[in-house]
Amino acid sequence: MSEMNKAFIKNLPIDAVERVFAALGEKPYRAKQLFNWLYEKNVGSFHDMTNFSKELRQGLDDSYELSALVLEDRLVSALDGTEKYLFKTRDGHFIESVLIRRDGTDEGRLTVCVSSQVGCPMGCGFCQTARIGFKRNLEPAEILDQLCHVRRISDLRNNNVVFMGMGEPFLNYENVLTAADIMNYSYGFHLSVRKITISTCGILPAIERYIDEKRPYNLAISLNDADPVKRARFMPVEKKYPIESVAALLEEKFPVSRNRLTLEYIMRKDNISSEDAGRLKKMFRHGWIKLNLIPLNRGDHGMELPSVGEVERFVKELEIMNVPVSVRKSSGTDIDGACGQLSGRRYHEAK
Ligand code: SAH
Repeated sequence: MSEMNKAFIKNLPIDAVERVFAALGEKPYRAKQLFNWLYEKNVGSFHDMTNFSKELRQGLDDSYELSALVLEDRLVSALDGTEKYLFKTRDGHFIESVLIRRDGTDEGRLTVCVSSQVGCPMGCGFCQTARIGFKRNLEPAEILDQLCHVRRISDLRNNNVVFMGMGEPFLNYENVLTAADIMNYSYGFHLSVRKITISTCGILPAIERYIDEKRPYNLAISLNDADPVKRARFMPVEKKYPIESVAALLEEKFPVSRNRLTLEYIMRKDNISSEDAGRLKKMFRHGWIKLNLIPLNRGDHGMELPSVGEVERFVKELEIMNVPVSVRKSSGTDIDGACGQLSGRRYHEAK
């Protein structure tokens, strides 16, 4: 088999690795040891797997590629320590990940924002990734390897993961969920389900599937406008899957007890009126939904930012209506690592 065609070992969930090991005549517990090496110990070579026989190490190396991505660049924000990583895929695409340090020190508040696709087909008017268009879905190994690299380079032991980088995770459902499940394995990264968040612009059938399959991870919906007419202006997905249908589905099916649903809402000058607050309250009657307000980040979107006073008034209005609300701080603005600014293409063109 040529180098180029080796399969990515990190594409395989536990049952697949168990089958591979059984075929090699290895004991089943070896499979968990492999996950321990790949993720918990996060080694860079099969030859570092010292409790495996030389033959097994060589056999794995002959058939599989351990790393799916090559690190191309790493930028660190002088403002808040946010780090942006640029990776190259085996077929020459560029994707980005971001490490966000919410308060600069606390391990528990480190968040890695991962990409799920090369580019994105959704075409949201405020998002840089949309400009690239859609290239392809990322494989589970390419999603997991973003985390492997970031954790190795920045020496992380524990962190949150948000699928809020490049791409629409729910158009790459299988691979995203496989990656999330592997992140959750106790013999791997061992990230608790509460530390993993999948964010979608509202792909209705995939949200329904996610609920029906009783997937345990946090779910975030990028709302950005409760008014369907205004939403359709910036989010073409609104025409295919109206937010009203998403809201109805969530109200009917999303398990209230889980309390793991967040609505993401980019604040513009024209979506934070009293009427907008009222619509939000009405659309999502469940008291258990959290509304996460995001400052609009720069881009060629031509949209106007609200003033501090306007934001304060909007937040107060929502609070009075008992809508649980938090305001996200923008991170890494100086390295284009903030929400909606990921665009690996720039580097592609530069090189
Ligand atoms: N496709 C998925 C995940 C990627 S977008 C989704 O739509 O949820 C991740 C988040 O970044 C979304 O909530 C999106 O609304 C937000 N975002 C995109 N562009 C932005 C910008 N210019 N300023 C602030 N937030 C932005």
